[in-house]
Amino acid sequence: MQKLYGVIGYPVGHSMSPIMHNDAFERLNLEGYYHAFEIVPDKFQTAIEGLKALDIAGFNVTIPYKVKIMEHLDEIDPLAKEIGAVNTVVNEKGRFIGYNTDGEGYVTSLLSTLNKRDLTECTVLIIGAGGAARAIYFTLATYKQPPKQIDLCNRTPAKAEELIADNPAEIGSASLSIEEAEASLAKYDIIINTTSVGMHPSTDASPLRLDYLKKGALVSDIIYNPLETKLLKEAKSRGAMIHNGIGMFVMQGALAFEKWTNQRPYIEAMEEIILKKLEHKKEE
Ligand code: NAP
Repeated sequence: MQKLYGVIGYPVGHSMSPIMHNDAFERLNLEGYYHAFEIVPDKFQTAIEGLKALDIAGFNVTIPYKVKIMEHLDEIDPLAKEIGAVNTVVNEKGRFIGYNTDGEGYVTSLLSTLNKRDLTECTVLIIGAGGAARAIYFTLATYKQPPKQIDLCNRTPAKAEELIADNPAEIGSASLSIEEAEASLAKYDIIINTTSVGMHPSTDASPLRLDYLKKGALVSDIIYNPLETKLLKEAKSRGAMIHNGIGMFVMQGALAFEKWTNQRPYIEAMEEIILKKLEHKKEE
């Protein structure tokens, strides 16, 4: 019998996860179907009970439910607990187990762009202190070969300070104002934008000035619409290596798929299908 998978969120109609996962099931000849379930907030509990009753095999969780889902799970992976958010749920014999594949998805994608460059030699600056920053910061900090130092800068510095205080690893970290980060940019080998600044339709905005960008630095932006944000365009024009948010999106999905099926999907095919979908969206 075909197994049921999906993504829950509100709204969720725009999600690109269904085409990516359904294509992956087909390519691997697996009997699976992935659906986008839009759940209105006051029906959340009933909807989760419904998914359990239907014996859904696994599902992703997106905005605004990544934190709220946690109180409805039977078990939570330790890293997801530290991050404080769950984006993937696996149904193990009727028990819902929560994971967070956002951070690992991002780090896997980053490492493949860094190629053979040694992360332990790198000083990292994260811009932002929201949910995505938390997943990326904690995953990088607890990585088996972590960077030398991870600093944070955020529009609201208190949130960055809170993240640093909550960080489970013993890694050097400082909270900087945006202006301080801009002035000391020459120190950083990797700069990661985790804010929504520069995302469609506000494509003229950039979260940070890059005047003092270090030669050979890598600038990464987790936004994937557009594929090249203003920040990335500027970094490229200054000769930096760039990395966009597609890899994170695809890898978080691929890692979830692997947890559900114990099979690795075709990553290139997943990426291709998302790029095509984004291209199509641009034309609409
Ligand atoms: P979030 O929890 O709401 O955090 C938003 C962050 O952006 C905060 O640090 C916030 O700063 C900052 N910010 C928002 N508007 C700003 C502005 N006008 N000026 C300066 N800073 C601003 O959101 P999130 O879940 O972390 O998501 C952030 C972005 O990552 C979104 O664009 C999302 O689409 C993207 N994302 C991509 C992937 C992927 O797979 N590639 C996955 C998850 C998220 P304050 O703290 O000062 O409010």
